[in-house]
Amino acid sequence: MDNYIKHKAEELEKSLVECRRDLHKHPETGWLEFRTAALAIKKLASLGYVIKMGAETNKADEMRGVPDKDTLAACRLRAVAQGGDAGLISGMDGGLTGFTAEMDFGGDGPRVGYRVDMDANDIAEAADEAHRPFREGFSSVNAGAMHACGHDAHVAVGLGVAEVVASLKDKLKGSLRLIFQPAEEGVRGARAMVGAGVTRGVDFLIGAHVSFQADHSGALICGATGFLASTKWDVSFTGKSAHAGAAPQEGKNALLAACCAALNLHAISRHAEGATRINVGKLVAGEGRNIVPAKALLIMETRGGSTALDEYMLGEAGTIIDAAARMYGCAYEIKVAGGSISGESDSGLADLIFETARAVPFYKDIVKMQEFGGGEDFSYMLQDVQEQGGQGVYIQVGADRTAGHHNERFDLDEAALCPAVELLSGSICRLLVK
Ligand SMILES: [Zn+2]
Repeated sequence: MDNYIKHKAEELEKSLVECRRDLHKHPETGWLEFRTAALAIKKLASLGYVIKMGAETNKADEMRGVPDKDTLAACRLRAVAQGGDAGLISGMDGGLTGFTAEMDFGGDGPRVGYRVDMDANDIAEAADEAHRPFREGFSSVNAGAMHACGHDAHVAVGLGVAEVVASLKDKLKGSLRLIFQPAEEGVRGARAMVGAGVTRGVDFLIGAHVSFQADHSGALICGATGFLASTKWDVSFTGKSAHAGAAPQEGKNALLAACCAALNLHAISRHAEGATRINVGKLVAGEGRNIVPAKALLIMETRGGSTALDEYMLGEAGTIIDAAARMYGCAYEIKVAGGSISGESDSGLADLIFETARAVPFYKDIVKMQEFGGGEDFSYMLQDVQEQGGQGVYIQVGADRTAGHHNERFDLDEAALCPAVELLSGSICRLLVK
C-alpha cells in the first residue's frame, strides 16, 4: 500500500501546487473563507465525501471574533466574483464557513478525524520581484489579506489526502472525517466546531502544520506537546471628554487609564510553575489635541504553559485593568476575542506517524515529540477526542520558507506538499486498513 500511496501522491503533485497557488492568490481571513470552503466542498463531494456544513458544524454562539455584517457581505460577494459557488456560499451565511466531509468505508473500524485549517492572515503581501508569489503572478489579490502561515498549503494537502484515501476505499474499514476549520488565526474557530459536535465519535484525530518548528524541507516533528493556552481580550475604556484648556477637571481620561493598564500588564510577575506570556499588541485612544480622551481600545493576549497558568495571567490582568480604570474614573468592558487551551499529543499516535515517515524518503530529520511553545486551537478538538477515550496528534511537516510565519515575505517550498500528502494518507490508511 505504501508504494501505491507514493505513486498516487506523486501523480497529484501538479494539482497540489496549482491548488495552493490559487488559494494563495485568493486569501480569506477568519470566518470569511467562503471561496476556499466552497472550492474544497465541491472537490470533496465529487470524490464521494458526505458534506455537513452551516449550523450543523459551526455553533454560532461560540464563534468568536466574527467580522461585522458589512465585511461578511462584502467578502461573500468577493468570493462569488472570484469563482466561488454561489449556492454553496449561501449556506455559510453569517460566517459559518467550517464544514466536515466524511467517507464511510463500512466494516468495523475506527473513525479517523483530520483537521485542516483554511484562513489567511491580516497582512498586506510583499509586492516586489524578490518575492516569488509576486514574481510568478500568484500573490494576494485581496487587499490586506495574505496566506502568511501556510494554510493555503494545508487546504491543498487536505484535498490531496482526501483523494488518495478515497481511491483506496475498497481496502479500508471504519471512516474518515475531514474537518475544515475556519479562523485558526486568533484561535477562534475550533471551539465553535467542537461545540457543534464535529469531533464526537472520533477515535483518532490528526492535525498538521506546515513548517513552523519543522523549519526546513526534510524535517518532521511527529507529535507536539505543551501547547500554550492563550486568551485574547479586547478591552475598551470609556471616560468623559472635556475641553483640555477650559475645563480639564471635568474630563475622565481613558487614554491614561489604558496606558496605565498597558504598562502594568507587562509587569505581571512570572510564575514558578511554567511559561507565561503577555502582550498588549495594540492601543488606540483619543479624539483630538485639545480634548480629554474619552475612549481607548487596548488589544491584548495572555499565554500559559498550562490552562491554569493562562488563568493566572488572566486573573492578574483583570485586577490591573479594573484598578487602572478606577484610578482614572473610567468604565471598561472586556470582550473575549479568542482563546485556546493547553494540550498534549498522544505518544502512541506519534509512534505511528514516525513509522509511516520512515517510508517517506523526503523526511530525513525526524523528531518523535517536541515541546510546541505556541498556541493552536486544535487543542480544543484534541481535548474533546481525548476525553472520549480517543487519541490525537499534532504533526509539523517540514518545508523551507523564505521568511518567518506571519511575515509579508512568507513563501514555502512546494516540493514539501507531495511528501506531506504521502505521510498523512499513509498514516490514515494504517489506521483504517482492513
Ligand atoms: Zn498557522
